[in-house]
Amino acid sequence: MIIKTACELCAWSCGMDVKVEKGRITSVKGMKEHPLNFGRLCPKGSVAPDYIYSKERVTRPMVKEGEKWKKVDWDYAIELVAENLKEIREEDPRYFATIIGMPILLGGSSTVGFIRRFMDVYGTPNCFSPESMCYRHQIIGYILTIGKFNVADVDNANCIIVWAHNPHASKPPLAWRIDKARERGAKLIVIDPRRTKVAKMADIHASIRPGSDTYLALGLMKVIIEEELYDKEFVSNYCVGFEELKNHVAKYSLEEIAERTWVEAETITEIARTFATTKPACIVQGVNALDQVPTGVQNARSVAILHALTGNIDVKGGFVRAARVHTRNLRLVEMLEDVPLGIKEHPLFYQVWETHLGEGQGMYLYDAVLEGKPYPIKSIFVAGSNPALTWPNSNKVVEMLKKVEFLAVMDMFMTETAKHADVFLPAASFLERYELVDYYSVIFGIPYMMLRKKVIEPLGEAKSDVEFWLELAKKMGFDNYFPWTSVEEVLDYVLEPTGYSFEDLNEKYPSGVWTGEVKYEEYKKRGFKTPSGKVEIYSETLKKLGYDPIPTPKEPSESPYSEKAKEYPLILTTGARDVYYTHSQMRNVEKMRRILPEAYVEINPKTAEKFGVKDGDKVIVKTERGSIVVRAKVTEDIAPGVINIPHGWSEGNVNVLTSNKPGDPISGCPELKALLARKE
Ligand code: SF4
Repeated sequence: MIIKTACELCAWSCGMDVKVEKGRITSVKGMKEHPLNFGRLCPKGSVAPDYIYSKERVTRPMVKEGEKWKKVDWDYAIELVAENLKEIREEDPRYFATIIGMPILLGGSSTVGFIRRFMDVYGTPNCFSPESMCYRHQIIGYILTIGKFNVADVDNANCIIVWAHNPHASKPPLAWRIDKARERGAKLIVIDPRRTKVAKMADIHASIRPGSDTYLALGLMKVIIEEELYDKEFVSNYCVGFEELKNHVAKYSLEEIAERTWVEAETITEIARTFATTKPACIVQGVNALDQVPTGVQNARSVAILHALTGNIDVKGGFVRAARVHTRNLRLVEMLEDVPLGIKEHPLFYQVWETHLGEGQGMYLYDAVLEGKPYPIKSIFVAGSNPALTWPNSNKVVEMLKKVEFLAVMDMFMTETAKHADVFLPAASFLERYELVDYYSVIFGIPYMMLRKKVIEPLGEAKSDVEFWLELAKKMGFDNYFPWTSVEEVLDYVLEPTGYSFEDLNEKYPSGVWTGEVKYEEYKKRGFKTPSGKVEIYSETLKKLGYDPIPTPKEPSESPYSEKAKEYPLILTTGARDVYYTHSQMRNVEKMRRILPEAYVEINPKTAEKFGVKDGDKVIVKTERGSIVVRAKVTEDIAPGVINIPHGWSEGNVNVLTSNKPGDPISGCPELKALLARKE
């Protein structure tokens, strides 16, 4: 039997055909008719059965007794969690926090929304996710500038700038689209300190200094404005702040920008001219590489402004938006009496005008747990996340996990985080539960949704997240807000406004349904959803809150121009992905481990020679936070003076080196892309 579902081994949810024989998965294939992946799967998707049936999977609830784990039944485990939560709630519900995995990995609106609903009813605003350091910042930047979140329409573009993104490793469905665009002759420009696969395919590769992207953005705007290559009609009718921008860019010379960015003035000019004169054109912004610097939100604003200057907003092949399918919002945010941690400091991280973004800035969780500031967090529930490896400043994260009075972890594996838990709850995999995938429009501009299916029964006693939270809600006495008796009923409730039911998506439309279309030039009728109704090149909202109203470059807090660089002469960039792993996941799949067995540091031959490093050496890399040992990979594919160490490894964990200090004043995003390091 073939069952049609959606992969969830990374955030993109490719359509997947799963063959099941006698209740066991025997093979997986890409779903040919799926509009995201058209029959393809990346290496991770192809080994889904190995992941599901991994010998390392934990499929029984367990509680910690002393240093040892003891197997218990679900009733006991849920009772234990409920008891702790009731106790904390008596004292102050805000003392309980959740850390959820990539919200999308937990199933879009149906699962994440469900957990957040529980938190709202419980009375704690303290829900955190990797969005504290990933993706949210560009959403904020785009909304502040054009009033909405658009994406690059690569399929129809004649010029594509890929900025700080390595899609062949981190977003294969996008890479497949770029490959096709190249075949039909689209121009390709890549801005990245690494010579990635997409950079090798490009017409122009600008090897930029990490953390200097705002300078480059201003350089491109400068050329476009001063050479009068901008779309005069769009700018005069639909933008505010053009004159201010013109005066602003005049303050920077191309020579200064070239010196700061390591990109020659001629190359900056060539990129600007190509982008402005090839129509339509779009910029694909990396998932988080432009975010994790002090100008993260401003970098996203710069991307939106560049599209606006060149008249590429809401045009086919430009920067577009497909309406998101309207499902029922599960949140009950009106029940909360306080905002989450970090929001008094970064209000736009929670809400931009009418758009409620819904969670706290996780970089403030550290002080709450460790110092009790501004109030203590005493109990944490970690759902499908591994902050011990994936959140910055791992030594501090581990201190936090040890210090908290009660730690519950729901996961498929005994992760580095779960090892510190008081109770371990075995999670069903994505092939063992139902959930809604309703975000193709947001991420790819594809107005589509489908049901992720329960292809097999959960292994052992593993349970779906929604089932667990439903049972916990009932134990807590929250029945009024959680009246459902099954996941199917929850999904019917979520789906109701769409006109589809669980049964429709499960049986009639197993491959998914189209939910709308991409609308072009809507602004001509309705304007933009900003206070001025126009593209806000100059942002009064930012000005009122004390931030730069126009993108303005700022050096990273650990800058090669600072005194600290004498002691730490290397620029460390982290977070780049290898296609075989998603963050800390998949390390337990033997086939992947054989291909890429250990953590490594990429270093240019010139830098390697300067520091006496040879290919294959084990080297100690140190920052102010700590040091790790990693294998040297000497390669021309990285700029001299820069080192790249990917994350997610328990040995050679690069997050021992990173800082959890909020870096971007607007969003609180930590700086993970341009830190100073040295070789010991
Ligand atoms: S890109 Fe790979 S891991 Fe991600 S959803 Fe597609 S097949 Fe799965």
